[in-house]
Amino acid sequence: RKGNVIITGASSGLGLATAKALAETGQWNVIMACRNFLKAERAAKSAGITKENYNVMHLDLASFDSVRQFVENFRRLGMPLDVLVCNAAVYLPTAKEPSFTAEGFELSVGTNHLGHFLLARLLLDDLKLSDYSSKRLIIVGSITGNTNTLAGNVPPKANLGDLRGLAGGLNGINSSPMIDGGEFDGAKAYKDSKVCNMLTMQEFHRRYHEETGVTFASLYPGCIAETGLFREHIPLFRLLFPPFQKYITKGYVSEEEAGKRLAQVVSDPTLAKSGVYWSWNKYSSSFENQLSEEASDTEKARKLWEMSEKLVGLA
Ligand code: NDP
Repeated sequence: RKGNVIITGASSGLGLATAKALAETGQWNVIMACRNFLKAERAAKSAGITKENYNVMHLDLASFDSVRQFVENFRRLGMPLDVLVCNAAVYLPTAKEPSFTAEGFELSVGTNHLGHFLLARLLLDDLKLSDYSSKRLIIVGSITGNTNTLAGNVPPKANLGDLRGLAGGLNGINSSPMIDGGEFDGAKAYKDSKVCNMLTMQEFHRRYHEETGVTFASLYPGCIAETGLFREHIPLFRLLFPPFQKYITKGYVSEEEAGKRLAQVVSDPTLAKSGVYWSWNKYSSSFENQLSEEASDTEKARKLWEMSEKLVGLA
């Protein structure tokens, strides 16, 4: 049978390119889990994804009700879940003030981390039931959360501190909107959320890999300088960022190539190892990359997991 894969945020950028790469093989039914139904349908059509290879389902990660509703709707379809890709993200580098999710969490961490944490925890039960040969749960990471790299050292750097802001509810009222308890900084909040994504993947691996056989993985697909992620940035940045990445850092990768990379993590039998953060070298070969000290801190991963369980209402 065809594999069933859910991709969050498949209405643009990396998620759309991955949906296209997988759909084109004819081996996958892609469930595009998107907040804007019409945009997703149009995106699938203009990318040339054929009708029999995809479905669009509504999911707004900035609302726990929507996440739970999505899981119910998916279960009602009666199809097995073989791979889940947590890809959607918001990046608000120029915001002066924080925005919040439906439940009142700072929007970047609330969407990129907490929404995905709830979704992944709920859908793990469905992955367990699948009889597919290689079941996988993938959370898209980023170099920018990794302070052991050049890109990860561009200020403001990711830093979760002692998680006091998260413990306080990240709501900007009786706690800071930032995980470390500091002043709001949109670029840092995004990087922090990516550290959370990478810590979560590893904690899933430690807790569930042996018991379930599910492969847990993260990746940095390269700098996809032209995606919508930078839509909130100032125009000059958007003009100069792609050539800067192409010619100076040489970290640039096209949406199409990045989509092929993530599609490999979904389906390539040679990338089935669990607990790995994948990257690609300049010849486009995948390798197991090292995470920064903070992104591989097991104690922090455990604390983050337990706090997140409380915040999303699972504990
Ligand atoms: P895009 O902005 O193009 O795509 C992000 C997607 O997330 C969009 O489809 C967007 O939906 C969706 N999304 C945002 N908020 C929500 C929400 N509340 N509920 C559901 N979906 C939501 O960016 P990219 O393709 O670049 O980003 C994809 C992933 O790749 C992210 O995890 C990002 O961190 C990661 N990444 C990107 C890099 C890059 O250089 N671009 C580098 C490394 C990692 P909508 O279309 O409705 O806006």
